[in-house]
Amino acid sequence: MSSRLQHRALVLNQAWQPVNIVGVRRAFSLLFQGHAKAIFPVPDGSYSVLNVEEWMEFSQKNPDPSHSLRSVNLALLAPPVLLLTSYDRVPRREVRFCRRNVYLRDAYRCQYCGRKFSESELTLDHVVPRDRNGKTNWENIVTACARCNARKANRLPHQAGMVLRRAPTRPRWQSFMSILAMDADASPWHPFLGISDEQHGTKNTKPSLIK
Ligand SMILES: [Zn+2]
Repeated sequence: MSSRLQHRALVLNQAWQPVNIVGVRRAFSLLFQGHAKAIFPVPDGSYSVLNVEEWMEFSQKNPDPSHSLRSVNLALLAPPVLLLTSYDRVPRREVRFCRRNVYLRDAYRCQYCGRKFSESELTLDHVVPRDRNGKTNWENIVTACARCNARKANRLPHQAGMVLRRAPTRPRWQSFMSILAMDADASPWHPFLGISDEQHGTKNTKPSLIK
């Protein structure tokens, strides 16, 4: 469905609780440095926990061009879920403030006209403009289409005759995880996020360690 998440990995702590979402580079870095192992569901409903060598072997046997990172003679699958191998690498359960996460919070909808757009058609808008001391943070930044952003210009919404669909807030970790997991590509994450797979029509698999 979407390519937004196919190169992101859900990171679990040693208690198999989700603690972070990382891009593919960070995922490989954790894997190659031995700070994390890759988790992959197996047909009997449990999970394989693979170190980097095992993951490379698995990638060779299960090539998937749409989810791979390619080098000259190696195709590595992007691991959908990682398990941290030590306790001292537990990131804070806080949603990072960045462009894409603002779009995700706002469900890719312009917060002024309410229409949904693709990432390339969206912009970030300071509700209170910067030259009026508007901050660049979760509480003052919203998703806006280029047209609405240009119309609002350097004004407060009411001065431009515009109304925000929803007051922007910092997303809570758990609700943000649910937003991300609604994406079809995030289905390997569902068992770890407490999301019923019946809603998504995928096979229910309970985490259990086999390796
Ligand atoms: Zn708009």
